[in-house]
Amino acid sequence: MAREVQVEGVVLRRGYIGEYDKWVSFLTPEHGKLRLRVRGARKPKSKMGMLTEPLNLLKARVIEGRTQRLMVQPQLIRSYVALRADLERLSVALALCETLDRWLPEEHAEPEVYTTLIVALEALEAGASAEQAAAWALWRWLAMLGYCPDITRCGQCGNELLPSDPTLPSGDESERAGNLILVPADGVLLCTRCASQREGIALTSGAIQLLPRWLRGERIDSDARPEAYQELLHAALRYAECVLESPVRWLEFWERLNTLRESG
Ligand SMILES: [Zn+2]
Repeated sequence: MAREVQVEGVVLRRGYIGEYDKWVSFLTPEHGKLRLRVRGARKPKSKMGMLTEPLNLLKARVIEGRTQRLMVQPQLIRSYVALRADLERLSVALALCETLDRWLPEEHAEPEVYTTLIVALEALEAGASAEQAAAWALWRWLAMLGYCPDITRCGQCGNELLPSDPTLPSGDESERAGNLILVPADGVLLCTRCASQREGIALTSGAIQLLPRWLRGERIDSDARPEAYQELLHAALRYAECVLESPVRWLEFWERLNTLRESG
């Protein structure tokens, strides 16, 4: 990285250093995740304080210091105002940022991971369902970062998991094929027969059929049934937690929120 560069990116997380400074975990398409110090961001009249909060899309200069990197002159590009006004969408968006912050190594460019985050944030801002956007982003990241199981063959017996024609309507297939099982610890999907011998997360073939479409780059707003998103989200969360080796704080909050809502 040059001594000084102009970057664009999203604030994933932030913390405090000393009395007046902040650090931010900043995800950029070209340089990956950067940890940057923002001098004076906590001074009472500093505009940088608000700008450097999570979820903000910023343009800024990054200066290579002797011992650390500094973010200077951040400018707001997008703050996702509508998303922030909705507690469910906000907690999902923060969960996605927290997941990436913990998942990605520093200074390793993953432009597609970045683009997926931006598309998910834009979808949430435009009113997409939180479950749909989160499931879409998490599965794409699992695939991009090399964790997506083989969705064509059983991880145990090797039999084909789904009918070979992916254009079949998803609704009718789920009854016929029965549930498949995702085993997060092994990163495999098992066929109905092998599934009976293992603990795992049940997925109908309706949900599994949606996956390759998402992974091929199809947009969030597909025509699948809501149950398919819920299943895929549940599976992605448990799988991501397994990969990260601990729960995601914001996801726990969101799940508690859902439980409260369901219990009225
Ligand atoms: Zn099998």
